[in-house]
Amino acid sequence: MEKEKIIAALRESGAMLEGHFLLSSGRHADRYFQCAKLFQYPDRAAAALAPLADRIRRDMQSRRLTLCAVAGPALGGIIAAYELGRQLGLPAFFTERDPSGNMALRRGFEAPAGSILIAEDVITTAKSSCETAAVLEKLGARVAALACVVDRRAAGITLDWPVYAACALDAPSWAPEDCPFCARNIPWIKPGSRNQ
Ligand SMILES: [Zn+2]
Repeated sequence: MEKEKIIAALRESGAMLEGHFLLSSGRHADRYFQCAKLFQYPDRAAAALAPLADRIRRDMQSRRLTLCAVAGPALGGIIAAYELGRQLGLPAFFTERDPSGNMALRRGFEAPAGSILIAEDVITTAKSSCETAAVLEKLGARVAALACVVDRRAAGITLDWPVYAACALDAPSWAPEDCPFCARNIPWIKPGSRNQ
């Protein structure tokens, strides 16, 4: 039920696009989730993340999970981290790429000495989340879990942490050389670029 509600909220917000897309992970896909379109409505963002926050809170209450902060990789993770932090009563901060393209903790943020939750909008390969985890662990934090709105990981992509997803989807993505749309010479769109 929760999953259907999230999909409906994504669709109603224009956050679920269908076509031929180049994802930020470098993979191609027939669906793209532009969660910023959902997050532009604070009430919908709060509603979409509430069931996720409830699950995380329950695990914290039963001591299965201990958290002292939420961190999200910019840009996609900023609002997800903020909103989860707000609902869970935890501080939220973000990592971002430095001028050379490496994930970094900037703006005077400090990595907490405890366990953190990494929050994302969409996980495809979890590359940004893994980079964020590496940065924060190097600075002394411990990553306890990962949370996202949409988990569209392909089968076989496993992570070192439990993943809390508002919506886990079997939304296929392909390496460019295996993409059925590229095979038919259909041009791809890189969402986030011009007019997208
Ligand atoms: Zn393609």
